[in-house]
Amino acid sequence: MKKVLIFILVLPVIVGSAQNPGSNHHLGQCNPKTMPVLWQQTAAEYRALCYQAFNLATLRINAIPAKEIKKGNLAIVTDLDETIFDNSFNEAQLILDHQSYSDSNWKAWTRLHAAPALPGAVEFLKATHARGISIFYISNRDTSEIKCTLENLKALSLPCADTAHLLLMSDASTKGPRRNRVMRYYRIVMLLGDNLNDFASCFERKSVTERSSEADKLKEEWGDKFIVLPNSTYGDWENALYNYHKDFSAEAKDSIRTTLLKGYK
Ligand SMILES: [Mg+2]
Repeated sequence: MKKVLIFILVLPVIVGSAQNPGSNHHLGQCNPKTMPVLWQQTAAEYRALCYQAFNLATLRINAIPAKEIKKGNLAIVTDLDETIFDNSFNEAQLILDHQSYSDSNWKAWTRLHAAPALPGAVEFLKATHARGISIFYISNRDTSEIKCTLENLKALSLPCADTAHLLLMSDASTKGPRRNRVMRYYRIVMLLGDNLNDFASCFERKSVTERSSEADKLKEEWGDKFIVLPNSTYGDWENALYNYHKDFSAEAKDSIRTTLLKGYK
């Protein structure tokens, strides 16, 4: 009886694949983003890493003496996407729809202002703000996304959800000038991000090797002033693989990835 039931359940999948070799099932397996997106959406290890980052961040914030906070003008700077907001639903939808990332499909997602928070993010930001420290959100979402981004921050009841504390990208993607704007009036005690460009300009447009060597130079900062969140789906770690060429075909990217793999034979 059990065998018959399994056969009935599995049959449509087999027939479906045979009739339509380009089905979601088939292509989903080939898409290089499938595994990292699934990791973000299903791996308890991903959740644990997020909690670990925010627990460590909380320890660092709590170690700041109250009298130092009382002097005023302390701030933290945080990125948004894959640092506070979980956008894996957009990435998953792209895979299911056989689409690649575009400005328009990204904005179709952000317009919904429905991104949930990474595990631990809301509690950390609320606790930091409650200690009297300002929060600045520096994101490379563009300025046309201000309204929906604020709506998303408010939907998560996050502190400092206003235009004074949200610095989106108006021209250049570099975040240095926006960090400098904050530093004119505040002392930044912590930065959070999933992309090393969220922390310092020394990582921008650098090769794979240079990025690693810059990360090594700053080894004292990670887990101290710099708190990193995991993102294996996208980011400048990936752009560096293709030497920042945006227009390579999927086949060309695949070939570059294979070339960069380091085996042992
Ligand atoms: Mg990000």
